Amino acid sequence: MLNTYTYPEFDYVQSAEQRDGLVKRHPAVVVGAGPIGLTMALDLAHQGIPVVVLDDNNTVSIGSRAVCYAKRPLEVWDRLGCAKPMVDKGVVWKVGKVFRGEEQVYQFDLLPEEDHKIPAFINLQQYYLEEYLIARLKEMGDLVDLRWKSKVISIKNQPDHAVMQVETPDGVYRMEADWVVACDGANSDVRKMMGLEFTGQFFMDRFLIADVVMKADFPAERWFWFNPPFHPNQSVLLHMQSDDVWRIDFQLGWDADPEEAKKPENVIPLLKKMLGEDQEFELEWVSVYQFACRRMRDFRSGRVFFAGDAAHQVSPFGARGANTGVQDVDNLAWKMKLVREGKAPESLLDTYSEERVFAGDDNLRNSTRSTDFITPKSKVSKAFRDAVLDLARDRPFARPLVNSGRLSMPTPYAGSSLNTPDGAAFSGSMTPGTNCADAPVWVDGQDGWFLDRIGGRFTVLTFGQDPGLTGGEVDGVPYDVLVVGKDIQDAKGRLAERYDGQVGTTYLVRPDQHVAARWRSFDVARIADALNRAVGKAAARPSSRSSASHAA
Ligand SMILES: Cc1cc2nc3c(=O)[nH]c(=O)nc-3n(C[C@H](O)[C@H](O)[C@H](O)COP(=O)(O)OP(=O)(O)OC[C@H]3O[C@@H](n4cnc5c(N)ncnc54)[C@H](O)[C@@H]3O)c2cc1C
Repeated sequence: MLNTYTYPEFDYVQSAEQRDGLVKRHPAVVVGAGPIGLTMALDLAHQGIPVVVLDDNNTVSIGSRAVCYAKRPLEVWDRLGCAKPMVDKGVVWKVGKVFRGEEQVYQFDLLPEEDHKIPAFINLQQYYLEEYLIARLKEMGDLVDLRWKSKVISIKNQPDHAVMQVETPDGVYRMEADWVVACDGANSDVRKMMGLEFTGQFFMDRFLIADVVMKADFPAERWFWFNPPFHPNQSVLLHMQSDDVWRIDFQLGWDADPEEAKKPENVIPLLKKMLGEDQEFELEWVSVYQFACRRMRDFRSGRVFFAGDAAHQVSPFGARGANTGVQDVDNLAWKMKLVREGKAPESLLDTYSEERVFAGDDNLRNSTRSTDFITPKSKVSKAFRDAVLDLARDRPFARPLVNSGRLSMPTPYAGSSLNTPDGAAFSGSMTPGTNCADAPVWVDGQDGWFLDRIGGRFTVLTFGQDPGLTGGEVDGVPYDVLVVGKDIQDAKGRLAERYDGQVGTTYLVRPDQHVAARWRSFDVARIADALNRAVGKAAARPSSRSSASHAA
């Protein structure tokens, strides 16, 4: 097999507390340095919370796993200062084509409108993604302590902290943490050690992944075949990655012998049938996977939070694994900061599970539906699937029913206890609980992007009328005021269009760039009530009893 990538080996360094035999209490410990643990650590560091990251090995993800990263997680990584190398190295795409046999039956465009900074999707090998996250963490200085070859072997909740034992090449030591975030993957040791359930559905099918190095002229699009002539009665998926590596997934069926299927003498003929005898290629990676759709009941247990695959697992169709895990992190870090500073009740942390379980169920539903369509379980399901594919070619109404893996989209936290319901009518999609849409803006005469102006803190966005304030504070929780027409200019009118931004329209935006509340006029008392609600003071106190102040 050809290696296009050299795996880095990060140095193991014995920690001072292990060397000195001291038991130290840390504000936050993240278990697992996969994409989710690394992002969690980065967000905590951005919130000013010192964090220790423990990982049982000392390199990035081995082999071929995640490929496709969606707009929303890229926006989160952009907020954290590391999306650029990902987008620069990755393959940007937005068009998908679905074929039945050799005939195209459906085509979709994941971002038909212009004027977004971040693309709909990029394809990038998971090892590059993790490398860029680690590089960014290193820029965070002393706030982040990355400890390689450090395996958590026990964990116990105490009323106000958690206690862990960590195994390293120098033996076992004990450490404590105010908060632990378990990002230790689908087989989470932390989850098992705490005896917590992980339930759902296993799918009786197997898929072969072949990562192939070749010069080919397929476009940068997602191509999916049902029943292609080169692999009858099964499905095939093709994605371009960087470095001329192509990911090809072949459905094998449940009866396939994974060991036999992986052998080059079986993989190469399969590829030649697809690519043609004349296409030159080399294999970079081959593996066989099966999958499950499952989740924990609650993503919090005392002082321990679960994020990413440790909390929920989906099928790869739709690229929801890492993409949705990053949104877990986005939801949690700002809440931990406010609770740690005593500015929000501890119950704010329960809303992490409330909101992310809601999103998790949406992902599981979508993932299960895609999987059922791709691998129908009964004759009736197969007949339905085939009828949809027949109709889709000529009948537009059937096309949305073709499900070759509906791609990851963020789930609005509709009905979250942190939202203030609308009291007026608005058009567009920016309902409370939704992640903010981006738009091009001018700042001081320079081109910029709206999302670059928000995030990390509460922001009050107001259109057209200057309330004469630059910010304020409600019970110690600060917010910035951003006036469209003064602080930022709506460069192409997209902000007004996407936010139904009539003059006076005002939004309260959370630190994770989600809408908390909106009104048709700027009113500090209503802002204070909504902010109180958004930090978990659920029956928001009347603003007269909050201590609110404003900066002119
Ligand atoms: C074939 C395939 C294709 C996929 N395609 C996509 C895709 O296109 N897009 C997408 O978003 N997702 C995709 N995924 C899913 C994606 O790979 C996962 O969702 C993602 O890796 C989860 O990240 P994580 O950080 O939660 O866990 P992991 O990546 O599993 O990382 C867990 C980390 O924890 C460490 N660890 C484990 N136990 C301990 C312990 N006791 N102590 C210390 N450290 C520990 C591990 O060494 C590891 O570094 C795909 C997955 C597969 C298998």
